[in-house]
Amino acid sequence: MRTELIDNMVETALKGESISHEQVLQLESLTHEELDYLFVGTGRIREHFKGQDVKICSIVNAKSGRCVEDCSFCAQSSSFQTDSPEYGLMDVDEIVAAAKEAEAFGSNEFSIVVSGTSLDDRKELDRVIEAIKRIKAETQLETCCSLGLMPLKHLEELKEAGLDRCHHNLETAKSHFDKIVTTHTYEDEVNAIQNAKAAGLQVCVGGIFGMGETFEQRAELAFSIRDLETQSFPINFLKPIKGTGLDHLEPMEQYEALRTISLLRLVLPKIDLFVCGGREEVFIDNQERLFSAGANGILGGNYLTTKGQDPKRDIEMIENLGLHPVYTSI
Ligand code: SF4
Repeated sequence: MRTELIDNMVETALKGESISHEQVLQLESLTHEELDYLFVGTGRIREHFKGQDVKICSIVNAKSGRCVEDCSFCAQSSSFQTDSPEYGLMDVDEIVAAAKEAEAFGSNEFSIVVSGTSLDDRKELDRVIEAIKRIKAETQLETCCSLGLMPLKHLEELKEAGLDRCHHNLETAKSHFDKIVTTHTYEDEVNAIQNAKAAGLQVCVGGIFGMGETFEQRAELAFSIRDLETQSFPINFLKPIKGTGLDHLEPMEQYEALRTISLLRLVLPKIDLFVCGGREEVFIDNQERLFSAGANGILGGNYLTTKGQDPKRDIEMIENLGLHPVYTSI
């Protein structure tokens, strides 16, 4: 058992510093027994920086399907034949009702997610702006939007309306990006994130794991996101959906997923790590383990094109661990 190696990594992260690239690569060879020892440490890092709180965030897929991009994991791309629902942008009342429902289940933040390269036109932008204003006026929720490749000017208008945060995934490492998406570039994604930062928004940037990337590429993504100085990281594990470009892959094995979460906690010790897509499929009845690996948040309720587990079950799981689901705004 390489306890010294593991202890050194944990001590570095407890100081709020990233472990080195060389150390990250050693994580790949840790045995299950060594990983179990590591998770005691990553659990400590989570507790040190995040206390006993577990943040729950919710999304509404406010516009679904019909996307011209070809992201090979995505059921909403028009490049693939899937059963994913297709509908245009919801009206303001529907979005606000979904936010209130999320708040009633205990969420502290709510994200409006739309499919597509970005919003189609001014009319759609005005609708999202109106929804944000009403959510801020009628709930205690923090607001987040995931609207694709948005120009700075529109993000500034959303900020003005009360938007707190912008979500935009890098999806995968730069060196793997063109295997996953060909209709836009990694640099387009980085520009969208820089625009959100320039608009004064907090940024939530993550990716999807289990898309055929190497362990080194997972580390590459973690270090790229560290360098972007973001506030939260949604961790998704590929849930292969029939008809998409990655439907031949299997969901990630549980220890590999936990190893990935711990990698992120050791590179990004202070950031909020939310486990989102693929949580139920990968962790099944062992979902509590994701908190010892280092996660301090989950996406509750349903996902973009698939159902999540009952929010009451999530809250029960968190409370059974002696942790506190966070109901109020951050
Ligand atoms: S991830 Fe977004 S941009 Fe890519 S295909 Fe899906 S909806 Fe379109």
